[in-house]
Amino acid sequence: MSILVVMEQRGGAWNRMSWETLAAAQQMAGEVGTTATAAVLGQGVEALGGELAGKRLERVYLVEHELLQEYTPDAYAAALRQLVAQAKPDYVFFPHTYQVRDFLPKIATSLGTVAVSDVVGHRAEGGALVLVRQLFQGKVNSDVKFVSPAPHFASLQAGAYRADQVAEGSAAIEKFTPEISVKDVRTKPLERFRESARAVDLTAAELIVAVGRGIKEADNISLIQDLANAMGAELAASRPICDAGWLPMERQVGSSGQTVGPKMYMAIGISGAIQHLVGMKGSRVIVAINKDPNAPIFEVADYGIVGDLFQVVPELIEAFKKAK
Ligand SMILES: Cc1cc2nc3c(=O)[nH]c(=O)nc-3n(C[C@H](O)[C@H](O)[C@H](O)COP(=O)(O)OP(=O)(O)OC[C@H]3O[C@@H](n4cnc5c(N)ncnc54)[C@H](O)[C@@H]3O)c2cc1C
Repeated sequence: MSILVVMEQRGGAWNRMSWETLAAAQQMAGEVGTTATAAVLGQGVEALGGELAGKRLERVYLVEHELLQEYTPDAYAAALRQLVAQAKPDYVFFPHTYQVRDFLPKIATSLGTVAVSDVVGHRAEGGALVLVRQLFQGKVNSDVKFVSPAPHFASLQAGAYRADQVAEGSAAIEKFTPEISVKDVRTKPLERFRESARAVDLTAAELIVAVGRGIKEADNISLIQDLANAMGAELAASRPICDAGWLPMERQVGSSGQTVGPKMYMAIGISGAIQHLVGMKGSRVIVAINKDPNAPIFEVADYGIVGDLFQVVPELIEAFKKAK
């Protein structure tokens, strides 16, 4: 059995979720008695490959081509189809990023197979892998087993596995040059821009302080911003806060916002509706502050403070300032 992890990089910087996927693949490989391999796509990605060569992997594929310099679904799918044909992995795992969501169904479909998305866990059974995925916005989980011939494709949800559990080791580097022609690539990525100067990628944040309707008024958001500043955290929110225009939509966490997996997620005045939980329950440590001891957020919280946020938060700000 062989497992290939497709790491994601952009402009020479890793997407943090790639390491979570790598850690997952290493664990799964260990449980079925094999060693994982990894691939990085791009142009001029030797340095990234070198970093991967220091991990417990059998092989690192440097998949390089000038048409992979910038991401396009056509070039990525073409390159990966060729790599899969050569390496013949049984399982191919991807981080569940926006980019992967864009091209993974295309590869799977072009090979006449399917992809399992949103994987949050696994177990080894009879030498094969059973994957656990979320359904209905995280309300229920479901076990999935592939019954078709390999390759089996799956994307792993943010925060489901821990990046700091990637095992060190040493791996051979193998260069792989796919054949891609300009005429195969039907889109041209133009210059990247952020929609607004305040645009933020919460999926990359290590610490997040999120505010909900318990904050009562727009003017009070500055209190939570002060806490985020004192902690060096990104500010996020539940949907009503963004719907009201108190914070921009890009800061919304949940089923219709971003899915995050920081080291710590602090939910302040957030009840814990399922649509919010689905976006943050993969966080490593969850802290909840809510005046209602029965708020559902406490069911997923590792640490809970039952209290009035207008009393608790100023004290936390002082404590963080002192600790610094
Ligand atoms: C299709 C669909 C998609 C959705 N997508 C999302 C999504 O992406 N993200 C999202 O967040 N929601 C989403 N929602 C909305 C979701 O169902 C909830 O309505 C929302 O998450 C509730 O936000 P909240 O917890 O901030 O507010 P509330 O549910 O009103 O909770 C406020 C909480 O603050 C507490 N509180 C009040 N005062 C204080 C105080 N002084 N100190 C401490 N605690 C206090 C209360 O006890 C309460 O628990 C979606 C809904 C639908 C139908």
